[in-house]
Amino acid sequence: MLFPETILTQEIDLPILREKGIRLSLRRLDMVHPMVSGNKFFKLKYNIAEAKKQGKNTLLTFGGAFSNHIHAVAAAGKILGFRTIGVIRGEETFPLNPTLRFATEAGMRLHYVDRESYRIKTQETFLESLKQQFVEFFLIPEGGTNAFAISGTKEILLAEDEHFSHIAVAIGTGGTFAGIAGSLFSHQTLLGFSSLKWLSIQNEINQLLELHQIQPRGAVRILDQYHFGGYAKHKPELLDFMLDFFAQTGIPLDPVYTGKMMFGILDQVKKGAFAPGSNILAMHTGGLQGILGFNERFGTKLPYTSLRM
Ligand SMILES: *Cc1c(COP(=O)(O)O)cnc(C)c1O
Repeated sequence: MLFPETILTQEIDLPILREKGIRLSLRRLDMVHPMVSGNKFFKLKYNIAEAKKQGKNTLLTFGGAFSNHIHAVAAAGKILGFRTIGVIRGEETFPLNPTLRFATEAGMRLHYVDRESYRIKTQETFLESLKQQFVEFFLIPEGGTNAFAISGTKEILLAEDEHFSHIAVAIGTGGTFAGIAGSLFSHQTLLGFSSLKWLSIQNEINQLLELHQIQPRGAVRILDQYHFGGYAKHKPELLDFMLDFFAQTGIPLDPVYTGKMMFGILDQVKKGAFAPGSNILAMHTGGLQGILGFNERFGTKLPYTSLRM
């Protein structure tokens, strides 16, 4: 079983927040555990418990070469004594990037598949071929979203969070958003910031909530205008913002999810979308492991450790 080591919530002090009379706190899920970071900790918790219950000692999952999920599964497997297999989209390249280097060092076996096969990875024929190649495994879907994951992400919002008026989180597959929606208090509004350029996101999220029988007690809203060109895409404006946010708060954000969410929150604050007196709790869902590889690829100098903790 994975146990959270720290649940830290920090209030952020910025001139724009004071000017608009708004409070903003950040829950540092990036610090929940020294090895298994962010929302992935919560998404894996009950998947791993289920694997154990089924007597499986191998976890198999999918991801891109910089995936936070791959990193987290490799770490959790190592800590809890599971073998791990990562089915990675694309070709093997050397030297390994920092994410895959970490995964390999944690004992994960990497299995590369071309983009075509990766696209059909949820189909029975592809899964059969994996079953032929590898011993019995417990399968965790890409990004980790399934019913067990959502049981875990329901634990992100706590009973003590009732005094917040708004909860904010980044959306990838929506599994974290769905879990938080399931724990929302009736007077709260949940804001999901999409990190993907996903035209049907509203529908997809509605379907996800329906599939998992989540009827949020509060209001839920998706903001889809802060994706900066799409998944894992970025623009100089986003990177400048992240550097500035770090300079002012000492908190590193990641360029794929939390940077976009925080940009979106503060943009909404500037535009007067929150009534004075609003008290926002934003989730720092982690992703800092990816920054090393991001800096290598793009020649950027994004910080990935907090200097003021
Ligand atoms: C995976 C991830 C998300 C997205 O979570 P979903 O449950 O797929 O929506 C958000 N932030 C970070 C840092 C992540 O690694």
